[in-house]
Amino acid sequence: MRIDVDRSRCEGLGMCEAMAHEFFEVGDDGFVVVLDEAPDEGQRAFIRAAIDSCPVSALSLRD
Ligand code: SF4
Repeated sequence: MRIDVDRSRCEGLGMCEAMAHEFFEVGDDGFVVVLDEAPDEGQRAFIRAAIDSCPVSALSLRD
């Protein structure tokens, strides 16, 4: 499982960070940084919820 970011979509709104700060952080440049791009399978539901919270669909999960 990998987390992908489409930086051209990210607007730095921070919903993902609010939902899962262990995995997402809005950087000084206003774009999200993924802190762990290949998380454990056991984190899937938690990360899925954070990804689904992004209002501009900038995040996705890849198997
Ligand atoms: S919720 Fe979406 S737009 Fe906001 S920082 Fe995260 S990836 Fe970017």
